[in-house]
Amino acid sequence: MNMTSIQNDFEAVIGLEVHAQLATDSKIFCGCRARLLGGHGGESVADVAVNLNTCPVCSGHPGALPVLNRKAVEFAIMAGLATHCRINPRSVFARKSYFYPDLPKGYQISQYDQPICEAGWLEISTSATPKKIRIDRIHMEEDAGKNIHLSGFSVVNLNRAGVPLIEIVSAPDMRTAEEAGAYLRALHGVVTYLGICDGNMQEGNFRCDANVSVMPKGAKEFGTRAEIKNVNSFRFIEKAIEFEIRRQIEVLRAGGRVVQETRGYDSARNVTVSLRTKEEAQDYRYFPDPDLIPLRIEDSWVVSIQSMIPELPAQKFARFISEFGLSQYDADVLIASKTVAEFYEECVGILRVAYPDPFDLRAASKAAANWTTGELMRLLNEEGRELSASKIRSEHIADLVRLTQSRVVSSTGAKQALGVAWKTGESIETIVEREGLRQVSDTGALEVSIDKIIAGFPAQVAEYKAGKEKIIGFLVGQVMKQSGGKANPSLVQELLKKKLS
Ligand code: ADP
Ligand code: MG
Ligand code: ZN
Repeated sequence: MNMTSIQNDFEAVIGLEVHAQLATDSKIFCGCRARLLGGHGGESVADVAVNLNTCPVCSGHPGALPVLNRKAVEFAIMAGLATHCRINPRSVFARKSYFYPDLPKGYQISQYDQPICEAGWLEISTSATPKKIRIDRIHMEEDAGKNIHLSGFSVVNLNRAGVPLIEIVSAPDMRTAEEAGAYLRALHGVVTYLGICDGNMQEGNFRCDANVSVMPKGAKEFGTRAEIKNVNSFRFIEKAIEFEIRRQIEVLRAGGRVVQETRGYDSARNVTVSLRTKEEAQDYRYFPDPDLIPLRIEDSWVVSIQSMIPELPAQKFARFISEFGLSQYDADVLIASKTVAEFYEECVGILRVAYPDPFDLRAASKAAANWTTGELMRLLNEEGRELSASKIRSEHIADLVRLTQSRVVSSTGAKQALGVAWKTGESIETIVEREGLRQVSDTGALEVSIDKIIAGFPAQVAEYKAGKEKIIGFLVGQVMKQSGGKANPSLVQELLKKKLS
């Protein structure tokens, strides 16, 4: 039996646990800085000098008392509202006990049976019919520190200890690696659009554990799951899950049993490897933290937070399609990053002034989407650069659209201008003038060269006159060639036809 038919007898079940680091200025239970610079792009404190951002609370000195960060709660509520969760009016912080050198108190403050948000969902569209992935809970917790192993000794760095996290736990609703990837991207979009998380997977401020099991197709009971820890890119998550599904099917096929364990993903070999058998909840001895009173959230607070929620990726996607007539593909590429989506909307804002007519604006908006998802993305990918770190501004794209729509510049010329702007950041108009990219639309000059071509190709001219209309393309081409590509082709065609009629 080949692999595909073996896999067809089984179905995978996947649930994701995602940790998102909240982008607050200070830590969750003390005033230590959680990131170096406030706001976006702030470098993580974990990257600077060891134990620079610590105090008695986050380094676990006896008697030091935690005080909850209001902003972190606000961010957690935003996450809950944006994922259609219920915001619990009362939630409880609990101690999760375990021993590890990067955990000075001997327990992590987390939430257990009474989390802040419950029972939400996110929609994904990997197939024609969108699918709702349920979210069981979102709870708040503090991050642990980090052990750094150097030659001959180790350092415990507590810069990260006490940094606020939310853990978003999905129901086991996904059935393929592709669905898991789509869910993770959707969730990433939500937290980054909300501005509550930097969403950088490489830096670990958005990380995912994937629970994977397999069962015979149509079975009522799920199989035993393995948990794959901390994979640091969307692509690797999907690959790790794909591998794990295949591995478990092979185990079952061979008459074995899948063991409940924690596994790691080795991206170099594209395999998952066993790390340890899984702890049970009872091993953590959860109990309410006596240092923190239950968290009470007033309705009025939730209502005011609701009003702060910006347009989210799913809504933006739908609006880009209905308002600008974009394809699903273009809309998808544009909304994938908040920066790109905002850049694109800025472009449209500029174009709105140049094209007051809604019909023209729609055409111009589509053209702007093509430039952004096509040539601009190509340049960004080629150099592995973020849009914010490039010299291209929304004005550049808007100018490209205007100059090509009005046929002042050919699309080839426009591409060339963008290539220069990419390097120098100069305005498109400046580049077009300097590099002589303006199309010759001066009829006088064009007529002279058209006359030359008509005189130079009598046979083709005769064919055209005898009814072989397609030959006009050849003649246009000759005029273009003579103009060094600068003539406006549709104008050339128009003039040629007039002269030959
Ligand atoms: P724990 O807290 O021990 O990690 P949970 O019951 O909270 O366990 O589940 C954690 C995650 O595992 C959730 O995302 C859930 O959807 C997922 N999950 C639970 N059972 C299975 C299963 N049999 N197969 C795949 N995923 C599962
Ligand atoms: Mg878990
Ligand atoms: Zn501190």
